[in-house]
Amino acid sequence: MNDKLPLSLFGLSADQISEALNLDKKFQGKQIFQWLVKGATTFDEMTNLSKGLREELTAKMPSVASSKVIETQVEGSATKLAIQLFDGNVIECVLLTDKNDRKTACLSSQVGCAMGCKFCKTATMGMARNLSTEEIIEQYVHLSNITPISHIVYMGMGEPMNNMENVLRSIHYFHDEDTYNISLRRITISTCGIIPGINKLAETGLPIKLAISLVVADDRTRSSLMPVNNLYPLDKLRRALLNFQHKGGKRFTLEYCMLSGVNVDEYAANRLADFTKNLDAVVNLIPWNPAEDLPFETPTTQEIKKFTAFLDDFRVSYTRRYTKGRDINGACGQLASKNISDYELYNDVDDDDDDDDK
Ligand code: SF4
Repeated sequence: MNDKLPLSLFGLSADQISEALNLDKKFQGKQIFQWLVKGATTFDEMTNLSKGLREELTAKMPSVASSKVIETQVEGSATKLAIQLFDGNVIECVLLTDKNDRKTACLSSQVGCAMGCKFCKTATMGMARNLSTEEIIEQYVHLSNITPISHIVYMGMGEPMNNMENVLRSIHYFHDEDTYNISLRRITISTCGIIPGINKLAETGLPIKLAISLVVADDRTRSSLMPVNNLYPLDKLRRALLNFQHKGGKRFTLEYCMLSGVNVDEYAANRLADFTKNLDAVVNLIPWNPAEDLPFETPTTQEIKKFTAFLDDFRVSYTRRYTKGRDINGACGQLASKNISDYELYNDVDDDDDDDDK
């Protein structure tokens, strides 16, 4: 047995597990790998290992995962898990079941977020650290122990493109046919508009879906709501998205969080029409979810109706997203874990139909 055991066995190949645990026989690494894919979190569950080996391994490594679920909240078709990490930080992830019975795991990529979007509860906690590949994978494992997962969205706490290496590693793991065999077309990365990340995703050539948290399509308002716009303003973002599609990127979504009196008038619709010109994109309209201490309001039904009428006039392609999980703070913009007793959640789900790439 190695002196330095890993914090988690998730994300390792069968050979890496054999090496990490210094196993006598190679097939034992494969057996453990297969149990991990089935969702086992202790050696005790791995009943095809000898009792002696299970005991030996358990003595050294009581849990094969570095995180544990500390709370489960259910509201209708949404289940939110609070997960405690090895260092005491708490993150959250959500399982959403839609009308077509698709099970979507909404995963966090960071503890907190540095991007400072004014309408987002996560921003209020600042940024603690990136999540490791295994911490991202373990969220999936905890959720898939509730029910098998069909789709993944990186829309939880944090900006995934600021932790791109670990996010991409976790995607390769989820996609691996020896693990969960999740189609890349069923995986969505959401970003507030990190252009180097969008370029990197374009360069991979992988058919992963892209969602941009646009919120508004004029620079002055966007910069006042989202500091990232000062670094990557709309014209640059638009060019990066055109390049993404030029390189084979599929139709992407523009998340439009509707804020009463801010981005739901005729001018905003006009700007959106200009921004979406020649882009193969669909706008997802998401009414803002109330979050304590944030100075915004959800638009009224009347405001939303007027705004969508403007969008129709300007021929903007849009969908109206049904927001799930609001009562458990599991809806878009509501995630803000600080400690075990005080956490909330940011999450939403892509409702588009998709093709399988297998
Ligand atoms: S909206 Fe996304 S990028 Fe912006 S602060 Fe919240 S989690 Fe970070």
